[in-house]
Parts: sequence; C-alpha cells; structure tokens
Amino acid sequence: MITVSGLNKTFNQFPALSDINFTVNKGEVVSIIGPSGSGKSTLLRSLNLLVRPDSGQIQIGDKHINADTLTRRQTADFRRQTSMVFQHYNLFKNKTALENITEILRFTQKLNKAQARERGEELLAQVGLAHKAAAYPGTLSGGQQQRVGIARAMAVDPQVILFDEPTSSLDPEMRREVLNLIEGLAGRDLTMMIVTHEMGFARDVSDRIFFMEHGHIIEQGEPAKIFQTG
Ligand code: ADP
Ligand code: ADP
Repeated sequence: MITVSGLNKTFNQFPALSDINFTVNKGEVVSIIGPSGSGKSTLLRSLNLLVRPDSGQIQIGDKHINADTLTRRQTADFRRQTSMVFQHYNLFKNKTALENITEILRFTQKLNKAQARERGEELLAQVGLAHKAAAYPGTLSGGQQQRVGIARAMAVDPQVILFDEPTSSLDPEMRREVLNLIEGLAGRDLTMMIVTHEMGFARDVSDRIFFMEHGHIIEQGEPAKIFQTG
C-alpha cells in the first residue's frame, strides 16, 4: 500500500529525515514512536506532502511521486490518497460538526447536499456523535472534537489514514475514548500510520512499530520485538 524509498528532508541543513525506506501493507497499522525531534511528524507529513521531501520516492496505492520532479498537480492528486488526523483537530470553528464533514464530502466526493448530509450523519454516528451534528467545535470536548476529526478523515475514503499525535492534547479520560475509537478502526482493514507517545496503545494496536531517532528508523518490527526488554 505504501512504499517509501530514499526519503530525505533537511530544515536549514538539519537532517530531519535521512534516507528513509519502508513498506506498509494494505490493512496494516503502524505506529511511529521515538523521542521528540526525531522526525516522526516530518515523516508523516511527507506522506501527504504537507512537507515536501528534498529527495526520494513515495508510492501510495496506485499513485507514485518522485520528490525531484514533483509538480503542483501531482501534489494535489497524491494528497487524495491519504487523510490526516491532527493533534489540534484542525476543525472549522464556524461550522457545525456535521458541516465540517459535509463540506469535505461535497468538495472531494462531489456529493450533493442531501447525499453529503446523509453520509455525514452516518459518519458522525460511527464515532458516537450523531447527537452532536448541530454543535459547533467550541462547544464540544477535546475528545469529541477529535472524534469529529476522525469522522472527517474517514469521509474521503482514503487509502491511508495518518494520525499525528491524535491524543496528545487530551486529558486522560478523553484520550481513552479516542484511542478506543482508533482501535476499533484498526480492526476494519484500514491502513493506518500513527505517530504516538502512547506506548501501551502502540503495543496493543499496531501490527508493526517504527522506532525513530535522529531522522532514521533505527528499529522496526512487531510490538513484541520492539518492546521486549534487554
Ligand atoms: P518529532 O515529530 O519526532 O517530534 P519533527 O518531525 O517534528 O520531530 O521534527 C524533526 C526535526 O525537524 C526537529 O529538529 C524540528 O525542530 C525540525 N523541524 C520540523 N519541522 C520544521 C520546520 N517546518 N522548519 C524547521 N525545522 C523543522
Ligand atoms: P507537533 O508536536 O504537532 O509536531 P511542532 O511544534 O513540532 O508540533 O510543530 C508545529 C509546526 O512547526 C509544524 O508545522 C512544524 O513543521 C513546524 N516546526 C517544528 N519545528 C520547527 C522549527 N525548528 N522551525 C520552524 N518550524 C518548525
């Protein structure tokens, strides 16, 4: 589903990503862990070209890009392969929970108003927020806002969902509700990559874990291998 080869990114000569190579299979759940500043977020953002790599190639589904020859049109096209769940939710504050989802459905899936509304309500129900369709983000808890963010990410039927520290802004009890939701998605044959500091979650939910340090994936494998002591 995802193949990355020779990916590099420097910020002001600081190597944030150094020769990253990996493959992720369809339906696989991969958590990316490692110390702050090790390049986890940069790697995730490179996969949907929010960060433009300096060099390297990325293939997601049937789309392929080469950083050296990337055009604007390719970038827009490639972005549709993935959707992203952000640490700070990134919802439109002046739109309701439902509108946050219908907006993207109308824009990307070319649904009409009624279709978008029906699909949007369905997605909100899937994240347990059918009753909050008319609520504005400011009136929702952090956990609820993030669940809207996840419903929105699912709305576009992406090949891959990318989670960038989805629970880092949340209190412990809300963290649990969001982690449970992501765990439920993991059983559904969705391909997911998750940057997280939640080690218990990473161990329980991931098929594979990438451990990053200084812009490299220094270790990868099944949770049992990564978390074994000694
Ligand atoms: P992590 O997600 O593991 O905390 P990041 O990918 O956010 O790490 O950052 C990796 C390194 O790249 C850090 O040193 C960070 O300061 C730097 N970095 C990330 N984004 C930028 C940027 N837009 N401009 C300059 N430096 C950046
Ligand atoms: P997060 O923990 O959500 O990754 P960061 O504070 O690391 O948040 O980054 C927030 C934004 O700032 C990102 O767009 C990142 O690329 C950018 N950024 C991170 N480090 C630097 C840096 N050293 N210089 C400039 N921009 C940076």
